[in-house]
Amino acid sequence: MSIADNLEHVRGSIAAACARAGRNPADVTLIAVSKTHPPALLLEAAAAGVQHFGENRVEEAESKIPRVTAALVETGRAAPTWHMIGHIQSRKAKEIPPLFQVVHSVDTVKLAEKLARLVEERDQRLDVLLEINISGEASKGGFAASGWERDPAVRDQVWADVRQIAALPALNVRGLMTMAPIVPAMEDARPVFAGLRALRDALAESLGLALPDLSMGMTDDYPVAIEEGATLVRIGRAIFGEREVTL
Ligand SMILES: *Cc1c(COP(=O)(O)O)cnc(C)c1O
Repeated sequence: MSIADNLEHVRGSIAAACARAGRNPADVTLIAVSKTHPPALLLEAAAAGVQHFGENRVEEAESKIPRVTAALVETGRAAPTWHMIGHIQSRKAKEIPPLFQVVHSVDTVKLAEKLARLVEERDQRLDVLLEINISGEASKGGFAASGWERDPAVRDQVWADVRQIAALPALNVRGLMTMAPIVPAMEDARPVFAGLRALRDALAESLGLALPDLSMGMTDDYPVAIEEGATLVRIGRAIFGEREVTL
């Protein structure tokens, strides 16, 4: 299967999930997660219509992003939008603003403040999503929100953190991001996606924020994520095939 064939299949599944949920496919943005893959494959995906790419490591992005963007612009195509979806170490934060337009993995107030300072210095703003650990898995990063409906201490901490980040003028907080646990059937991930949406709705209402975006859904679970309101799906293997290296 070529990347173009894979994309056609993914777009069909996105459209089918939207139809089941009564949603407009134009409200779901496909982010092709290109981590570990060489620039040539990204260019192939771009030729098949991909406009958004997701990368998860700063070191890898530093060499790939300028090359792929330059190659596309030189041939008269639009520069893609680059999404950072992986954990950002504090000392690497300064590399982010020149490379990425959207960061999905803001996981501490400290990182948010650092990114805000960096983009301010560049007279820019940055679109960000706040990564939320909704499942409560110890191995997952993000703001710990598991149990927020029942536990006032959890709720207060999440609310305080989001309020603090939303007050940073250099950051445009677009919404929330999560990763579902690895489960035997995609249906099992539904409560996590519904939980992220419920948290978004509650935060938006009580803090008066727009929070239009939900970044959720990967190769194994994106149809269910879309049914539960995903606006950004991050899909790697279904487009590029299995990765040789796991990151
Ligand atoms: C790798 C990765 C993805 C894509 O995973 P696939 O299973 O290849 O679709 C999505 N989100 C994040 C945060 C990732 O690291």
